[in-house]
Amino acid sequence: MPLDAINEIVLRFLDLKRGDRTGDLESLLERFRDTARAQRIRCPTCGWQPGTGSRWFCADTGAPEYFSAGCGIGWNTFETRGRCPGCDHQWRWTACQACGAWARHDDWYAPEDGDEG
Ligand SMILES: [Zn+2]
Ligand SMILES: [Zn+2]
Repeated sequence: MPLDAINEIVLRFLDLKRGDRTGDLESLLERFRDTARAQRIRCPTCGWQPGTGSRWFCADTGAPEYFSAGCGIGWNTFETRGRCPGCDHQWRWTACQACGAWARHDDWYAPEDGDEG
């Protein structure tokens, strides 16, 4: 689990106790689930794990995606399962920011035990 995510959870929990706002408990749990889900994303080639601040850019690219209508927007591609929020292009391939290798977007999700995503 990324350190900044843990920090945020701890801060929010302390805030929650202080304010006794039980309604926030659900969003806190949701954040735990998000973090756990994010932890299972890694580069299939080198094992690099993108953080919440990682950004991919929708740009013209050759192999293997062969996309020539990049809209230039930057976003975290794992928040949208590879779909560009700018032009709605569904990216089938995702480049690693550590090793530079392309891999199928679906291959970035580490196999889960039990539930199928
Ligand atoms: Zn785009
Ligand atoms: Zn990599």
